[in-house]
Amino acid sequence: MKQWVYSFNANEAAAAKAAAFLINSEGLLANCLDPSVSALHEAAGSSHRLEKNKFLLGSKGAALKEMTRLGLPVPAGFTITTEVCNYYWQNNHTLPSSLAAEIKAEITSLERATGKIFGDSANPLLLSVRSGAAISMPGMMDTVLNLGMNDEVVACLIKQTGNKLFVLDSYRRFLAMYGEVALGLHSCLFQEASQLEDGRVTLENLEKTIASYKQLIARHSKLGVPGDPDEQLYSAIAAVIKSWNSERAQVYRRLNNISDELGTAVNIQAMVFGNKGDDSATGVVFSRCPASGENKLFGEFLLNAQGEDVVSGTRTPLPIDQMQQALPQNFKELTTICKELELYYRDIQDIEFTIENKKLYILQTRSAKRTAASAIKVAVDMAGEGLISKDEAIMRIPLESINKLLHMSIDYSHDLPTIAQGLPASPGAATGMAVFHPRDAEEMSRHHKVILVRADTSPEDIQGMYVASGILTSRGGMTSHAAVVARGMGRPCVCGVSKLNINEREEFFQINGVTVKYGDIITIDGGTGKVFLGETPLIQPVFSAEFSALLSWADERRDLQVRANAETPLDVITALQFGAEGLGLCRTEHMFFDSAKISLVQEMIVALDSDRRKEAVDRLLPMQIKDFKELFRLMQGKPINVRLLDPPLHEFLPRREEDKEELAKSLGLPLAVMEQRLKSLHEVNPMLGHRGCRLGITCPEIYQMQVQAIFQAINELKLKEGIDTNLELMIPLVCDVNELRQLKEYINEAIKQVNGKEDVCLGTMIELPRAALMAGQIAKEVRYFSFGTNDLTQTTYGISRDDIAAFLPEYLNKKIFAVDPFSTIDEDGVGELIRIAISRGRQANPGLKFGVCGEHAGNPESIEFFHKLQLDYISCSPYRLPIARIAAARAKIECG
Ligand code: ADP
Ligand code: MG
Ligand code: MG
Repeated sequence: MKQWVYSFNANEAAAAKAAAFLINSEGLLANCLDPSVSALHEAAGSSHRLEKNKFLLGSKGAALKEMTRLGLPVPAGFTITTEVCNYYWQNNHTLPSSLAAEIKAEITSLERATGKIFGDSANPLLLSVRSGAAISMPGMMDTVLNLGMNDEVVACLIKQTGNKLFVLDSYRRFLAMYGEVALGLHSCLFQEASQLEDGRVTLENLEKTIASYKQLIARHSKLGVPGDPDEQLYSAIAAVIKSWNSERAQVYRRLNNISDELGTAVNIQAMVFGNKGDDSATGVVFSRCPASGENKLFGEFLLNAQGEDVVSGTRTPLPIDQMQQALPQNFKELTTICKELELYYRDIQDIEFTIENKKLYILQTRSAKRTAASAIKVAVDMAGEGLISKDEAIMRIPLESINKLLHMSIDYSHDLPTIAQGLPASPGAATGMAVFHPRDAEEMSRHHKVILVRADTSPEDIQGMYVASGILTSRGGMTSHAAVVARGMGRPCVCGVSKLNINEREEFFQINGVTVKYGDIITIDGGTGKVFLGETPLIQPVFSAEFSALLSWADERRDLQVRANAETPLDVITALQFGAEGLGLCRTEHMFFDSAKISLVQEMIVALDSDRRKEAVDRLLPMQIKDFKELFRLMQGKPINVRLLDPPLHEFLPRREEDKEELAKSLGLPLAVMEQRLKSLHEVNPMLGHRGCRLGITCPEIYQMQVQAIFQAINELKLKEGIDTNLELMIPLVCDVNELRQLKEYINEAIKQVNGKEDVCLGTMIELPRAALMAGQIAKEVRYFSFGTNDLTQTTYGISRDDIAAFLPEYLNKKIFAVDPFSTIDEDGVGELIRIAISRGRQANPGLKFGVCGEHAGNPESIEFFHKLQLDYISCSPYRLPIARIAAARAKIECG
């Protein structure tokens, strides 16, 4: 028969054996720092089991079981598998028939383990019922604590413990949680009905609160809270399973690409109590800092508190360091356990704990969500500590989040008056309009950048947080909901600005005499916790030592050379800073788009006779020489692939009336003739029109001028500055070998004029299907191919990149396309053309080199494909270089 339930219970015989593995292990800790730690790990047979358990038991359930095995102090319990959840949703909202018997047996062994009886009025066992999917969805699903209480149990517990405050506190929490989770009442009803002031509990206000909760439940729910603990248990289990498909859980899964099929497990566990007084506590701790990666315990706790008090932001928690004074012995134990768990899982852990009368319990551990900066520091540090290999470090970096490291930060060299100081909860600078409701954030973010300002956030706010550029809260600490979610999303966040006086209804906040209304611009710095009025000056990012180390490890590992698409000095400098090994695409037309040159370019194009054209070309020449010299000087002998003019001519032509008049004047043409000329240059379909090498063939002067400028620049640099240039010269948009033959004549003529002899590393773009198919002929005329995958995708699909937006969303929705073919290379179609071009090209010219210069060269999935094709290099935009370098190394690690 299928097993639906698995226990974690240290009293079970099996666990006892493993207990010695990590605990009591000063010696083992030393061992673990040794590179042989992974051997130890393997010996424990754990990694495979961990993965399997995660999907069956959820990550929380799997971790509880694992920690129990390791002998850590985990309250006993059992896990109802994710298969039960899936069964429920697939079988008309029913549970497997044999489940009840299994649960009953588990409760019995739990009673044995704890010495308490569930539902007993003399020595009652209280339970927590906790959700937990394979991929953790913090705060998205539900938990009920202190389950098993009713008036009778309450009376008995008071007698038994002599701690009425504790018992009543637990009871009011149970009523609220059960009311929310099992009866579906809104949390704000309970907040409003609460008689506790600022979370302060006294016997009197607890009694009042319990009474008003009972009234509230009676008023709003037909079912009410059953007195029978068994009934409570089953309703709570069903509610947790249902919470898998709550709206907020669905939204979270969609945003994080988590499959709906995973299902949640349900963990049922003996309660331990952090709310028994000042020798009790509850808290959250990270084994290293999830924001910076610093190797130091990081977290928060509250004395005399329970459950979500720390993360909900209702009371401001204390930094974990202060536990050293408050509960020194427990602090020491906790520190050791954090290290052990980190060593065991070989990753930063996010650990939930509770202390009941000075006895420490661990309630959860999971790999911590972290910022990109922290992920990098931790991975590099752990590789340095021998905990993981360099390859593992490379594999662990969340690639897309690296972009966030490349973003701007606030320039503090200016004198900037801050209006508030809070906790630096999630790094990065963000500027935007202050909005006070998640709904407004969604609405306004369509056209503006917004900062969501809230007292605290809750899981319902998640969509609003997602669209906001930054988040600012007045309550809650570094592990509050706002902070955790913001870090996960990479949104800058400042929280716990306690002096921030927010009026959510009238939509303004006040602090230190400053009033900020809805729509006012503010800036937050999630790295320092500072808040500013208006916009602030920003600076370029700097790479941390760890990030540089990681990139250099990636560079050692990869086969693909990584180059940049750049031509302006600023872009080239950025590209070199970001590690470009050369330029894979230098688009010469970009050099024409400045106001001094554009009018000459226009004259060149519009000129009626070749004398006039030559005149304009001659005046352009010295400017081009200067541009190329600047570029070649920056590159200091690194390869530079210069592409001759590519775009349709009419892109350069004047559009505004006054510009047309001016052009006519400078060419000495009547306006009417000019208009006529412009009309004749008009194209119905310019992307497939008079562009690329077709220009070079019809107006040889243009390419010849460019070639002349390039070679003069090379010569002058060499002669006067001793700088070498490693030039590759590329002809765009070739579809037939005869185009190349003709253009080679023109080009060689120009080179000869400068150098007396013709010698150049000539290449062509393969960006038309016919060029790929004719690669055998084309290869004989050139030394390299550069795949222009943007145009190759356009022309293979017959879809214009500029027009796809109109129908792509529907194509994706209807699953006609799995992805946008302009971001991820289409391996089957476009990729096949590339394969054909490589094989035919190589056969005809064995020394031929291959590169890619489309957007795809910055896309990790596509990079893996290019690696497998054994291309020589990829070339992407400067800001994608770090990702491309790491992705190229990963491709090598994964595919060999
Ligand atoms: P989440 O998935 O949102 O983290 P949990 O299942 O971890 O939810 O429950 C939330 C909190 O409830 C825990 O952090 C812990 O403080 C408290 N809690 C859960 N189980 C127990 C227990 N057995 N004893 C005491 N507190 C518990
Ligand atoms: Mg938890
Ligand atoms: Mg092109």
